Amino acid sequence: MSRSEQLFTQAQISIPGGVNSPVRAFNGVGGSPIFIERADGAYMFDADGQRYIDYVGSWGPMILGHNNQVVLDATITAAQRGLSFGTPTEVEITMAEKIRELVPSIEKVRMVNSGTEATMTAIRLARGYTGRDKILKFEGNYHGHADALLVKAGSGALTLGVPNSPGIPEDFAKHTLTVEYNNIDSVKDIFAQYGDQIACIIVEPVAGNMNCIPPVPGFLEGLRTICDDYSSVLIFDEVMSGFRAAPGGAQERYNVTPDLTTLGKVIGGGMPVGAFGGKKEVMDHIAPTGPVYQAGTLSGNPVAMSAGLAALSQLSQEGLYEQLYARVDQLLDGMQQLADEAGIPFTTNRAGSMFGFFFTKEKQVTSYKQATECNMEHFKAFYHSMLKQGVYLAPSAFEGGFMSAAHSEQDIEDTLAAAKIAFSELSA
Ligand code: PMP
Repeated sequence: MSRSEQLFTQAQISIPGGVNSPVRAFNGVGGSPIFIERADGAYMFDADGQRYIDYVGSWGPMILGHNNQVVLDATITAAQRGLSFGTPTEVEITMAEKIRELVPSIEKVRMVNSGTEATMTAIRLARGYTGRDKILKFEGNYHGHADALLVKAGSGALTLGVPNSPGIPEDFAKHTLTVEYNNIDSVKDIFAQYGDQIACIIVEPVAGNMNCIPPVPGFLEGLRTICDDYSSVLIFDEVMSGFRAAPGGAQERYNVTPDLTTLGKVIGGGMPVGAFGGKKEVMDHIAPTGPVYQAGTLSGNPVAMSAGLAALSQLSQEGLYEQLYARVDQLLDGMQQLADEAGIPFTTNRAGSMFGFFFTKEKQVTSYKQATECNMEHFKAFYHSMLKQGVYLAPSAFEGGFMSAAHSEQDIEDTLAAAKIAFSELSA
């Protein structure tokens, strides 16, 4: 038994499923999760001493790679001054100003401790601001685990919300309308019926929780127009795509401006941080300026702010994004070629430093339905072959991949050498 297997057995006694967040349990790929001991640059090292080239990056935050020296120094220096004060601090102003500089649609921003808090509060704010109860989200988009947002889509066009987790009263879920991602007509139809009751649309402007599915041309623009027509709030959930789809997030990449933006992952540099921000007129409805309540004991924590700021401050390095995009191209173009040579039906998606690959005959994957119809057996076998060869991919076919600035051309070449073997095993 490996050390990871031993630890997993032990973990399951005291921790539900042995993990503190479900996807980590490897339910999506089968087998036992690996336990990581430390990480550095593009690599993670497990409890058995095996090295992995890491394409998960702690599910997005580690855009600079693990153990970034500047982030580490800033974190340690801040910790030595005190872990938490529960008072305003100067670093919070610097953080807010940095976010405004990078994401210009954000005029005011409030810091929280996770992406879930950010989206939960953005929804409350949109409801408080508009005085409306209903919200619209998309099938296969994930916005954290707040009650209103854990609602599954029924198949087909429009479906009144049905909770997809026990513990969410139907009375809550019924206010969440769910339609197909990348299908603007389904949004138009539902607005024609309920438009004057809909407080907001919340969308992942690059869907990263059903593998990686970028918006089709016109989709985000269409959402903007509909929200303008019906005086609904447009929320881009950029917890994942923020600072990844482009330096200014998906809103910069696709040139569509939301009213509110939620952020997480990269803004914490690896510490637990989230944020929501946007138009001053809307943000001023939040307490203490306005009546919509939100608070947090550790919000704007000085150590987390210092870590996040140190990460964000490095993103303007000359050539950093060009390198990220080039590495994604090298990896995905290489994988496509290898799959084609092995005769394995396969396609890829990319948006900045986010990427996805699909075992499918489809030329392009643009919908939740297509993502769920991919060949799961191929994915699982490929996954385990790559893992065995020291490549750590997200352990689910419904998660994207993340490139970091620490990945070298050689790392990608090594990954492709492993992929060649993995594809050949599939076609054998
Ligand atoms: N929104 C999106 C788009 C996400 O990808 C996630 C997490 N993967 C969340 C919200 C929730 O963030 P957190 O896990 O920090 O609560």
